[in-house]
Amino acid sequence: MPATRAAARTAGIRTALATVCLSGTLEDKLAAAAAAGFDGVEVFEPDFVASPWSAGEVRARCADLGMSIDLYQPFRDFDADDPEVLAANVRRADHKFDVMEKLGTDLLLICSSVSPHALDDDDRIAEQLHQLAGRAAERGLRLCYEALAWGRFVNTYERSWDIVRTADHPALGLCVDSFHILSRGSDPAGIAEIPGEKLFFLQLADAPHMTMDVLQWSRHYRLFPGQGAFDLSAFLGHVLTAGYTGPLSLEVFNDVFRQSDPARAAVDALRSLLALQEETADRLSPDARARAGLLELPHPPRLGGHAFVELAVDGGSTGAVERALEALGFARTGQHRSKPVQLWEQGDSRVLLNAGAGRAGASIAALGIETEDAVASTRRAQALLSPVLPRTRGQAEADLSAVAAPDGTSVFFCATGAGERGWRGDFTPTGAGAPDGPPVGITHVDHVALAQPFDHFDEAALFYRSVLGLRPQHSSEVAAPFGLVRNRTVSDQAGAVRIGLSVSVLRRGTEWQPGVTDPQHVAFACPDAVAAARAARAAGAPLLDIPDNYYDDLDARLAPPPSLLAEMRELGVLYDRDADGEFLHFYTEILGGRLFLEVVQRIGGYAGYGELNSPVRMAAHRRQRAASASGRRDT
Ligand code: MG
Ligand code: MG
Repeated sequence: MPATRAAARTAGIRTALATVCLSGTLEDKLAAAAAAGFDGVEVFEPDFVASPWSAGEVRARCADLGMSIDLYQPFRDFDADDPEVLAANVRRADHKFDVMEKLGTDLLLICSSVSPHALDDDDRIAEQLHQLAGRAAERGLRLCYEALAWGRFVNTYERSWDIVRTADHPALGLCVDSFHILSRGSDPAGIAEIPGEKLFFLQLADAPHMTMDVLQWSRHYRLFPGQGAFDLSAFLGHVLTAGYTGPLSLEVFNDVFRQSDPARAAVDALRSLLALQEETADRLSPDARARAGLLELPHPPRLGGHAFVELAVDGGSTGAVERALEALGFARTGQHRSKPVQLWEQGDSRVLLNAGAGRAGASIAALGIETEDAVASTRRAQALLSPVLPRTRGQAEADLSAVAAPDGTSVFFCATGAGERGWRGDFTPTGAGAPDGPPVGITHVDHVALAQPFDHFDEAALFYRSVLGLRPQHSSEVAAPFGLVRNRTVSDQAGAVRIGLSVSVLRRGTEWQPGVTDPQHVAFACPDAVAAARAARAAGAPLLDIPDNYYDDLDARLAPPPSLLAEMRELGVLYDRDADGEFLHFYTEILGGRLFLEVVQRIGGYAGYGELNSPVRMAAHRRQRAASASGRRDT
């Protein structure tokens, strides 16, 4: 991706990636980091030790790739209460200095000690570090000292800074790592008071909130900025306010990233740093902002909602999807001028059925997002390293730009209000009106839910959030019948665009797979879900049957009015309530392998998705599919 790389490297502030973030060998990792557009890397020692390349060859390779080596890491357990141990540690350091000279990097990370020989005496640690810094300085090298959150005695940045200040050597500075600082709940505001020239290095990592051993938390669950729960823009703001001028470097240990495609993970990583710079700039004083040289992205234009959802269908699924749409009150209003694509509409909800996508079954192929400025949306997406999709279009067809999301969904930026000039002008009206029967009353698309490939869940959440300028809404874990499912939703401020992402918490096996693989759904909003369900059932919609046990439990938990409970039980409508309002919803059966439709009614300020009900839905889908498989019904 040469264009991407050039764009990233014109930024004022430099970016770096620790090789430990990525899967593969050192050779794989360097190639991936360079292709994504990083300016430099931290060489993680075990990656180097396992590499067949000499330090000189690694240096040459990085030079060829146009990347610097900004740090060699980690050097553990240096300070010691025993002169013999200390002497051995100094000897070990001298060997690493040899490696660093050959690598062409001048900075070594020294972690606070976890050794039984660790000192609990800051003056002595400072003295030992001072001596080591002297040896490093003789060779033109420098050291940065990092407090591990689980360091035996030194485990806060305040204490590591006291030691560095006491040691008082120009070749000794501090490394601040957002994980070690934020995981302990330390207030990072004090970093702003540290002289910028003593901040030798910055390592950034996000993480989800967890209550667990901090070492395990760090080794398995770190995330790229924007993917977890830490306030990293505030953190980075303090570091930049202090006057730090080194690279923004990512150090993320994550079980999934360690086994996923390094080229993709590196792009995801760089995207996280671009989005973080934007978020941080908003929180800095104008002075600090100008000094830091943060990259600016095109602002996210205001979004107007889901312009359309495009479903890919094939010969086996088209009939079932058409029948379901019709029974839900949709009319086939348009036929694409040059492609096998139909437009179905009801209210402001629009569904495209694309029979030419070449995908098996039925699935969500594309999201049309309404934006006030499609050009600006596309520019922003490009700046955030999204692949822009090539379009084949006929004469007089609307020029729609689309980018590819990590799960393969195309995201189109469109202005529905543009009328004939917009995408709707590509469709010849059929003249068809609403189907007969009582109206179902669907008004618009409420949300779209996409199961994510196991390797790309966090990447996808950051993609949708940053590219579309959405906010993370909530995360949850549901104990589903076939394994834990993790959900995350993002939406715009007004709730016009809502996207739900889900993933199995553990990678699925291959033999016992009773659940729907990678389910997707489109949820339509209506003002009266009970009336909608009644009308849809009367029209023959393939609605999902919900077991009586659910309604007995619902009565026990939330005690909806008895008449409402009876209607919901009769029609298969589910229910949820929270402090802000109520939620009624119902589902179709699975259509074409993995897709289903949902109709929802939001009452008051309810902003959730009825996720509590999803295990019931999953079990019902399993029952329906088992019945279909035994030949009762073809979906
Ligand atoms: Mg670190
Ligand atoms: Mg839903």
